[in-house]
Amino acid sequence: MDFKSRIRTVPDFPKPGISFKDITTLLKDREAFHAAIEALASHFEPMGVDMVTGPEARGYIFASAMAYRLNAGFVPIRKPGKLPYKTRGISYQLEYGEDRLEVHEDAFEPGQKVLVVDDLLATGGTIRATIDLVESLGARVVGVAFLIELTELGGRKRLQDHEVFSLIQF
Ligand code: IMP
Repeated sequence: MDFKSRIRTVPDFPKPGISFKDITTLLKDREAFHAAIEALASHFEPMGVDMVTGPEARGYIFASAMAYRLNAGFVPIRKPGKLPYKTRGISYQLEYGEDRLEVHEDAFEPGQKVLVVDDLLATGGTIRATIDLVESLGARVVGVAFLIELTELGGRKRLQDHEVFSLIQF
């Protein structure tokens, strides 16, 4: 399957100079969406994943389908103030400013094997924070999956201590 040709690049979105990778063109193609979930999930299947997690919002599209395929649970990681119960949070640097992610403090059992999923790896800041948050609750991150990796930004280097797999590289 040629996944790469199903991704649309939109120039100057959300601001001038940014070349945005649009996944909606892959999602609406039923064969490509199915094959993408299958390829990502089967790569991590031998690890015996207990939980799939990831940051909102585009990552959820892949994470929840992969959780279903791997017979694992799903844990949402969200922007501040969205989760109803007690949370643990982590702040991280963006190019301009700071962002924060939160997870329910009882989301994981100690030692649980967790697969972290997002739609796209750029600098790796978002997923580095996600991994640190999951591990702060005592769970074990056994893999990190992305639909797309922007290789020139070197995000993979920040995740060196983990098994990283991406389906499409730009
Ligand atoms: P990072 O933290 O720099 O690795 O940025 C990754 C985050 O930014 C992911 O959660 C992506 O959803 C989002 N992102 C950055 N660039 C794009 C893009 O071109 N298309 C879709 N999402 C993007």
